[in-house]
This record gives sequence, C-alpha cells and structure tokens, in this order.
Amino acid sequence: MSSEVTVTVGGESRVVPVGTIVRDVLNGIPSRDLVAARVEGKVVDLTRKLEHDAAVEPVLADSPEGLEVIRHSTAHLMAMAVQSLYPGTQVTIGPVIEDGFFYDFAPATPFTVEDLPKIEAKMRELAKADHKIQRTEIAREDAIRKFSAMGEKYKVEIIQGIPDDHVSIYSEGDWMDLCRGPHVPSTRYLKAFKLTSVAGAYWRGDEHNAMLSRIYGTAFATKEALDEHLKLVELARQRDHRKLGREMGLYIFDPISPGSPFYLPKGVIIFNALVDYMRRLYRRYGYDEVVTPLIFKNELFNTSGHWENFRENMFLSPDPDSDTHAIDTGPDGWHHGYGLKPMNCPGHNFVYRAEKRSYRDLPLRFAEFSRLHRAERSGTLHGLMRVREMSQDDAHIFCREDQIEDEIALNLQMVRDVYGALGFERVEFKLATMPDQHLGTEEQWQMSEAKLGNAMKRNEIVFEINPKEGAFYGPKIEIYVSDALKRKWQVATIQLDYNAPERFDLTYTNSAGAEERPVIIHRAILGSLERFIGVLIEHTGGVLPLWLAPEQVRVLSLSEKVEDYAKEVAELLKREGFRAHADMRNEKLGFKVREAELAKVPYMVVVGEREAADRSVSLRLLRGEKSNAMPLAALIEKLKQEPVPA
Ligand SMILES: [Zn+2]
Ligand SMILES: [Zn+2]
Repeated sequence: MSSEVTVTVGGESRVVPVGTIVRDVLNGIPSRDLVAARVEGKVVDLTRKLEHDAAVEPVLADSPEGLEVIRHSTAHLMAMAVQSLYPGTQVTIGPVIEDGFFYDFAPATPFTVEDLPKIEAKMRELAKADHKIQRTEIAREDAIRKFSAMGEKYKVEIIQGIPDDHVSIYSEGDWMDLCRGPHVPSTRYLKAFKLTSVAGAYWRGDEHNAMLSRIYGTAFATKEALDEHLKLVELARQRDHRKLGREMGLYIFDPISPGSPFYLPKGVIIFNALVDYMRRLYRRYGYDEVVTPLIFKNELFNTSGHWENFRENMFLSPDPDSDTHAIDTGPDGWHHGYGLKPMNCPGHNFVYRAEKRSYRDLPLRFAEFSRLHRAERSGTLHGLMRVREMSQDDAHIFCREDQIEDEIALNLQMVRDVYGALGFERVEFKLATMPDQHLGTEEQWQMSEAKLGNAMKRNEIVFEINPKEGAFYGPKIEIYVSDALKRKWQVATIQLDYNAPERFDLTYTNSAGAEERPVIIHRAILGSLERFIGVLIEHTGGVLPLWLAPEQVRVLSLSEKVEDYAKEVAELLKREGFRAHADMRNEKLGFKVREAELAKVPYMVVVGEREAADRSVSLRLLRGEKSNAMPLAALIEKLKQEPVPA
C-alpha cells in the first residue's frame, strides 16, 4: 500500500500522506463555517483520516447537509444535558427531521415544557465548554457490554440489531452515544438552538411498547437564521387556517364527521369563487365538465386497480339488494358491495367508453368537481390540509400519443395563469421519472419523459428531476408553490397514464381505420380545494384579494342618525354586484373597525353626518392606508378596478 494519497479539492489535485485528516486538506475556509466534509460524495467528520485517493469538498454550516450535521449534533448535546440533569434517564434515538430534530428518552417521569428552559440552559453551558466530539470504532460485542453496564437497555437493543462487526461511538467530554455520525468537531459549533415542544412517543413507534418522552428542537448555523425561523413559526401559528377560519366565519369541524369540513356561508363564497374561476379557464382551454356518480359497485375499483392498492383508504358499503350486510374487505371482496370513489378517473373512463371515439374527437378533456372520499386515519387528519372529504379541480385528458406534448404545454400555461393570479410568486417544477417497478419498456419511458421535458422547455420552465418518483404507469410533473411563510406545498400534478386505457379497454379509431389506445393525462391545478383554501388562508393571513373576499365591503355607521344613508350605501353596492353589508349597531367606531378587521373585510366604509350630507364615504382599507374621503361614485369606480382573473 502506498504511503501517499491524491486528494482533489475544488478541481485541484495534490498528494498528501496517508492518514492526513480531512480538515487539513480544506485550507482557507474559516473553521466556524466548515462543519464537515464530503469525501467521495459521503458526508464525514472533519477529523476523518484519508486512506484512499478521494475528491474532498467542504460542507458549510448553512448548507442543507451542514444544517443536518448541526441539528443532529444538537440532538446529542440535548441528550448529554438531559442525562447530566436527570441521571438514570435512558437514551434511545435522536434523528434530524424537517426544520429540526428530536430525541426520545426514557426518563423516570415524562418531561414537560417546564423542563425545557433548564435543559436549554445546560446545553448552552455544555456548548460553551467546547467539548471535543470524537469518533471511535469498537467491536459490537464490546459496545453491547459497555451500554449494558450503563443500564442503557434501548441502546443495547439497537446495537443488537446492527449486523456489522464494529459500531461507531461518539463521545463528548465524559458522555457518549452510539452513532453513525457525522458530527461537528466540538460543542462550541452549536450556538443557535431552541427546544420547542415535548410529546409522548412509543418505542419503535409500536403502541405495545413502552411510552417514551420526546423532546423536539431546532438549530441553525447562526442566531439570525434561528430568529428568522422562530418568527415564521410564530407567524404560522397566528395564521393557522383553523384559527382564521373560525375568526372569519368560513368553516367549522365537528367530531360528528371527522376530517370533513362544514363550510359556512362565507366559506362557500371562497370555494365557489375558486370553482367559478377554474370554470372560466375551462371554457377558454376547451374542457367539458361532467358529473359522475359518487358511489360505484366495487367491480369498478377492481378494474381500476383501486381495490388492490387503495381499498384500506376507501369507505365501503354493503349492496342494498343483498340480504347480507357484511362487507368483505378481502382481495376478492370486490365481487360484492359498493364503494365511495376516492378519485374521479374510473368514472371518467366510463364517460369516454360510452361512445365510439375517432382520432378526430381527441383530445377530450373531462373535468369534475365532485366530492371525493378517502378513509384517512383519524390521527393523520389536520384541518383542511388533510381531510376525508374533498373536491378537486380534477380533469382527465384523453388524447393521442402525438398530442401529449401540446396538452402538457397547455396545462403548464394554465398552472402559471392560476398561480400568478392567486399571488404565489414562487412556483417550482419537478419531473418524476421511471421507478424501479414500472410497466412498459425503458425506451417508452424515455420517450414520454422527453415529452414532459420538452413541454416544460417550450414554456421556458426550469425544472428539477425527481428520480424514480413517477407512478408505475407513467411519469409526472409535480408542481410546488412557496407561501409567504417560506413553506413549500405540492399543489398541482400532471400525470401520464398508459395503464388505465388498457384496464378499461379504451380505444379510438385511427386515420387508417384501426383501433388504438388513447393516453390519459390526469391533472389538477389547485389540487384538493380544501387543502388549497387552507394554504391560501395561511399564505395571505386571510387578507384575500377582493374577488375572493367573502365580505367585500362593510359599511360602518357613526350614529343612529345616518342609519338610512348606511343602508342605502350597502344596497347600492349590492346592486353593483358587490358583497356588502352595513354594521349599524350602536357601538363605538373603534369596536366596529376591529371586528371588520378580524373578519378580514378588505373595504371598510365609514359614514357619518358629513358623508350623508354630501353623499360621500370615508374609506378605510384593511391593507394599511389611512381613511380617505371620496364621493360614493368614486368608491364604486375604485371597487370595479380591483383585479379579477379572467
Ligand atoms: Zn447520533
Ligand atoms: Zn385521475
């Protein structure tokens, strides 16, 4: 074995002795920014020794990998603090999650939020003490002996499940933990963290096991980044769509129907305004709306494949014509009974099949807003974001192979129209490609992936590849929007399907008179309207554009003397087509304004004796701007100039 290795850093190669540590080849990067390194693509500790020729890249504190290293190291720091404050507490696992980390402990008494400040203070003390974090490898059997002696029975169980002969241990000061790593070099790198909450969690997620005590936290590269994050989390809490929905009188939830919203009149206005908008686009883009049954014989779901793959998520019902009320949920249960549709596609295939189709009829674009039902577990339900009942702006395009690219391009244009009009500035596109388990040949996949890619290029869309994330029956385009709280939501999808036309034996007659299979494009732009409304409410904080605002104008009277005038103004606005209402209660103006603000009414119109005398109003906008006197006609003109998407 040679005594030297060649390392490549930033495209430049040089020779160093075997065993040189990674940090020593990454000169010139201030050590506080450098938290780990990527060696031949794998993230490792800075103290790792170089044994082979390798490409070495720095992993900086504020990069996604760097943050992961910092967060996992902070989880260790928390475990160290917990064990020093609460001796006898056993440690289990402490993974990194989105935006932070958690660690599950087995303490004598479960932790509460009251324990967090004390633990955090101890963590700060340990971080400042600058304990070196060191990796050692020991034989598996030695590790088992070591952790057994410490009374760490969960760790012993974890080690027993590791097939390797050796395991790695990370120690900081006199504390240590079994861990794959990597970690920051020392605890002083951890200077921006916050413990956020506690929860119960079963060992290995199994309810038959012991209940552990989980502490959640987050950590960032800098104090500024942490503060920014905590600010957004607080804003998200204030803008929670369940809270705003209640304050604005949009919808309620009741345990009588878990996961299914009750839309109140004002919520229905938003719902319908979105549907009306999509309908206007459908007319422009050549879609036909259909309404298909909500409930089908399970036979249909056998044909579609839902019975095989999705029946645990379906609401099933016995056959009303049968004497037995039993429901067979087994693999062959589809011969009997009914199911509520979880998706519109199977019904649309029947609409397609109802007539003989020619190549000249295609593309056919069927849209439907029907209610869909999915039997989600109650633990996963969350306001409008995760529901059991929803509507989608769902459509299925039946087209010829040579029409795919144009259809996708049109859809992408529609996606941009919609998200532009709804005020989402950042829209991202991903192409999900062939998964390991797939129908059709690799060649066919390459061809259809190229069509999706070309359609995006035609729209000058820059996209990422999401490798192997397509459905088994075809590739798809996933579309994400970022909201004002910097959270990313997957909303729209455009999906190619070569499988359903086979299953439902769909055909059209080609120009030579022979039968061919059409291709189906499944697409939704808003996605679930429920979820979209939830996202929109949190994105805007409830301050909706005028066309979506349930109550557009509220007329606030200053005294009883102007009641008639207030009523007249509201009536006039209604006649002009606006959703207006007069608040003539005998209350102080300040109180009425606060209530209108809580209900997020964009236009507040104040009328007193002066306004009544010269037929004017004093306008106060929800979005800032001071009140502004104007003639009644000018108010109507201003309202009419508010944008409405075509
Ligand atoms: Zn670890
Ligand atoms: Zn579909």
